[in-house]
Amino acid sequence: MIDNTLSHQVQSLVERQLCEWPLVRDNYAALERAEVREIWLGESRIILQHNPERIRSTAADVSDEAIQARPCFLCDANQPVEQEAVHWKSDDGSEYKIQVNPYPIFRRHLTISLTEHKPQKCLKRDMMQLAQLLPGYVIMFNGKGCGASAPDHLHFQATMQQELPLCTELEDRADNSGLDTCYGDRNLWIDGDTGRQLIYIRIRLIDSAILYDMSHALNGLMRNALCWFKDDVWHYVFFPRTKGRPQCYGTGEGCFLVSPAAAEYGGVWVLPRKQDFEHLTPELICSFYKELSINSLEMGHIYDAYVRVN
Ligand SMILES: [Zn+2]
Repeated sequence: MIDNTLSHQVQSLVERQLCEWPLVRDNYAALERAEVREIWLGESRIILQHNPERIRSTAADVSDEAIQARPCFLCDANQPVEQEAVHWKSDDGSEYKIQVNPYPIFRRHLTISLTEHKPQKCLKRDMMQLAQLLPGYVIMFNGKGCGASAPDHLHFQATMQQELPLCTELEDRADNSGLDTCYGDRNLWIDGDTGRQLIYIRIRLIDSAILYDMSHALNGLMRNALCWFKDDVWHYVFFPRTKGRPQCYGTGEGCFLVSPAAAEYGGVWVLPRKQDFEHLTPELICSFYKELSINSLEMGHIYDAYVRVN
């Protein structure tokens, strides 16, 4: 019997592109050789990755003018002929193409974009459906102004759960008394120990009100998000943000070329320059998280707004 599940189609796509598209083959091979370094923020594992190929994304001009002026790399017309796709339609009727990211930061790195050119927006139900149909994967969302390199074209990214340290960390820390547990059997945690403010929700129903109430409480804040599905439970993480890049972003003396997005918030810091790779410390990472995330007071306001609608 032919296995025609989305997961199998994606697996075949990855194998085919790695075999037939030299750019993909070379870039994934280069990633295997990339230097990595591990640091710890308390109990949180952070992987630093020296990846010169990602300069195009980290240093990208994401101003509205620059975005309007460039050809969109997620639109069919501007993609290389070698770039194939698996097409998928969500229950809500949105059509997507799932593709291998030719400039990976993960050993398995997918880009999942709407077939139409429409502004970046987090369609949570689609994200959850994708997480369910792609077991083992974590779906990532980068909002406009906080890591989305194509804020004009709706897209997600995906990698394997074990590639993002935060996934297993949150699963393991679920019973830790250091995290606030609220609302009885509905599980929701707020944690800002590392300066990396996050809201972690576990739900069993795709239409669970908790996620929509929380989105409402977030009230248009810039954000990154992660979603994965495991043992019949969706794991959903919001990272509410105030800024895209730190004050010291740049190439000058004392500057760092970092553009934190869902990957960095999930524990993988991608550093195109060797000196940043060598000089980043746990204290600096913590200070970046603090600078770019909303603060504890604002987190409290979200919490209050959430409680009010419940
Ligand atoms: Zn586009």
